[in-house]
Amino acid sequence: MDLSDSPAEAAFRSEVRAFLEESGHFYPREQTPWGDMGDDPETMERFEQWRAAIVERGWIAPHWPKEYGGAGLSPREQFVLNEEFARHGVTNAGGSGVSMIGPTLIIHGTEEQKAEHLTKILSGERRWAQGWSEPGAGSDLASLQTRAVRDGDEYVVNGQKIWTSGAHRADWIFMLARTDPDAPKHRGISLLLFDIRSPGVSIRPLINMAFGHHFNEVFFEDVRVPVRNRLGEENRGWYVGMTLTDFERSGIGNATGVARKLENLLDTAKAGPASEVRNARRPDGAWRLELADRWVEVNVARLFSYRIMTLQTRGLVPNHEASVSKLFTTELNQRIARTTHRMYGLYGQMWDYSRPEAMGGQASYGYLRTISASISGGSSEIQRNVIATRGLGLPRG
Ligand SMILES: Cc1cc2nc3c(=O)[nH]c(=O)nc-3n(C[C@H](O)[C@H](O)[C@H](O)COP(=O)(O)OP(=O)(O)OC[C@H]3O[C@@H](n4cnc5c(N)ncnc54)[C@H](O)[C@@H]3O)c2cc1C
Repeated sequence: MDLSDSPAEAAFRSEVRAFLEESGHFYPREQTPWGDMGDDPETMERFEQWRAAIVERGWIAPHWPKEYGGAGLSPREQFVLNEEFARHGVTNAGGSGVSMIGPTLIIHGTEEQKAEHLTKILSGERRWAQGWSEPGAGSDLASLQTRAVRDGDEYVVNGQKIWTSGAHRADWIFMLARTDPDAPKHRGISLLLFDIRSPGVSIRPLINMAFGHHFNEVFFEDVRVPVRNRLGEENRGWYVGMTLTDFERSGIGNATGVARKLENLLDTAKAGPASEVRNARRPDGAWRLELADRWVEVNVARLFSYRIMTLQTRGLVPNHEASVSKLFTTELNQRIARTTHRMYGLYGQMWDYSRPEAMGGQASYGYLRTISASISGGSSEIQRNVIATRGLGLPRG
């Protein structure tokens, strides 16, 4: 397959680059080094300006059909867009509303639900949290115990979710709850949507190992949810939820972000002792070999992304191929972080992000940040299980 841009794709790439030159500066680069937005008003304002610029350009939802306000881009164009965003160190600002619940609503939602939510998701007026995991249900999600009991035109929800990213900033939540405790575990679950500030919902912060407030625990006590807010049929929520998980995992273009990190490190390694970041060790023989290994791996990751994009272009849904790419790219990110950390020696352990000699804290925070990606969206072990059974055809253990 020819992986170079067609003339139309090259023109689109130039258009994206021109847009980024013009508006990329809104992106809050000075955010906290662990990547959370924090509550700094200036950072939040710049993020909103960045979001507004993408909305105005029509690229906030690249994969949504045009009839629903999306850009209707082909997989190849989405890849170009993601690549250019990652190359400029910016991300699309749509959040889980645009990337997960929006496309699922387009497939499974009633007309009333689409009218209620889609425009507000695109404008950023309604931000979403994902209520999937529970203390006893993560990898084995179908074991979830949060209950929704029908009472006339409402469900009464009781239970607890955990690791709920951004719940403290969200407006609504999409969540899985058990509606039939007697059915086989995958067949007694429904997907509900509701205002996260409904009476009976309480949100408690969980502080992550980089001291950031990203996650929360969310508790439900007799929360009343109208039946019309159920997405899909009663007790079929697992299958609706799996559509959503496919959207969550199909992050094509992630390899470019990894490549960018390595390129930054290489620039530092090449710079002389007069460079601002002068504490990185100069690459001697061993470093050269380690950096060369990382470079080979970055190019392998890129080829895995191309494979996924090729499947999507043919109208196929990547399955174990997405697991290969997710596993390899997230673990490569950790290897790059380790290489970076070792290059900076003791300076690599500094946490003060105002100090340029420690790469603004990026070596230490960057190292911590790479851990969570190999857990969220299905842990590395779960990806290996998928590859073993669905990719290699091995029997279940
Ligand atoms: C950054 C981040 C953001 C997240 N955001 C959200 C969110 O917004 N909403 C939400 O609902 N959840 C969220 N999660 C939770 C995430 O989905 C779970 O952490 C993940 O599914 C793993 O579940 P668990 O933590 O319960 O671990 P467990 O499932 O208890 O796993 C513990 C360990 O056992 C291993 N293991 C489990 N089963 C198997 C198996 N069958 N074979 C081999 N090894 C196995 C796992 O790989 C892991 O190493 C987030 C997690 C992270 C890290």
